[in-house]
Amino acid sequence: MKLKNQITTIRIMALLSVLFALPFLFSGCDLVSSDDSDDDTTLLSLLLLTNSTSSSGGCNSCVTNNDSSLPAWIKDNFTCMTITVSGGNYVFSTSDLPPYSSGYYSTSSGCYTNDFPSGNSANPNVISSQNITLTIPATPNTSGSTTTTGPMGVGVNGVVLFNEDAAPGDTLSAELDTMDSANGHPTDIGMYHYHTEPYKLTNNNSALVGIALDGYPIFGRLETDSSTPGTSTPALDANGGHTHVHSTIGSSIYHYHVENTSNNLILLEDFHGSKGSTTF
Ligand SMILES: [Zn+2]
Ligand SMILES: [Zn+2]
Repeated sequence: MKLKNQITTIRIMALLSVLFALPFLFSGCDLVSSDDSDDDTTLLSLLLLTNSTSSSGGCNSCVTNNDSSLPAWIKDNFTCMTITVSGGNYVFSTSDLPPYSSGYYSTSSGCYTNDFPSGNSANPNVISSQNITLTIPATPNTSGSTTTTGPMGVGVNGVVLFNEDAAPGDTLSAELDTMDSANGHPTDIGMYHYHTEPYKLTNNNSALVGIALDGYPIFGRLETDSSTPGTSTPALDANGGHTHVHSTIGSSIYHYHVENTSNNLILLEDFHGSKGSTTF
């Protein structure tokens, strides 16, 4: 609508944009391709920004649709997605659009803000609406499994959680230099994600961060009494988790904490239980 209203003043820009967009429209969504070394793809990103409509409306409004039979800690805390119960699984469906402004939104979306912390700079990618489902066991087991690249859990705001590994060929410390102020960034298909403490959800506190793909909850760096895990509660295991009564859950349960490992506040290492599955 905005474009129509302003068409007399920006007609030439619009025509140029359409011309640039045409080849992209027929090439699928992987427009800003592959590796994180950028300069030439930056121009592509900028052109894409002016033509993208897929991420509009994602910053301050989102739709929550949670099955009434979900346990309270999920039903009452998870937002911006649809969660259903299917057999022995909970199925989380998310568009993965962060419900806040970010320097990784298209500049035309209304959700764009240049929010990069000093010393950080954008990677060439732009947030794009996804169609991600995580099928997570409702009754987690203790069989253990490994994390891999891609969605390994989902935050209470609908943004997917990645493990501590960077994209192949990259290091996490290099990737951390590309995080926005929420500590998130998008992949080359525009899939926005966190590897480390997501500051919009928790910042050195005990908040519920999300759920891991094996079905266990993830909390912030602290316990609800503000103690560090392992002081008044059992020590964290190699996966950054432990078992004790947690007031948010209302019973004794295994759970992960954001863990300070090698000076990075990581979300997930490997899993305590068997992981569910994802599609995207
Ligand atoms: Zn990443
Ligand atoms: Zn704990």
